[in-house]
Amino acid sequence: MSEQLCPLCNLPLSADTQVDGDAQPCAGDCSVCFWCAGPLIFNHDLTRRQMSTEEIAELHPTTRMLLERTRKLIRELRGITLQ
Ligand SMILES: [Zn+2]
Repeated sequence: MSEQLCPLCNLPLSADTQVDGDAQPCAGDCSVCFWCAGPLIFNHDLTRRQMSTEEIAELHPTTRMLLERTRKLIRELRGITLQ
């Protein structure tokens, strides 16, 4: 996959790791930036953009829980605190 910069923090999104498997990402899949813990979603061309609050709210509850848990872990890892 070609390298893309995170639309939120501009750091490279160089690798994709799936939290519960190793399938290739598809359009509409959600993702989390490993640098800033920002919620991202795959476009049809597999570039990523910021996921909106509405899109997060529409996720399946299990997916949303997984997304929030991943974001929390990354924030803890990076020492990012929310205001
Ligand atoms: Zn980022």
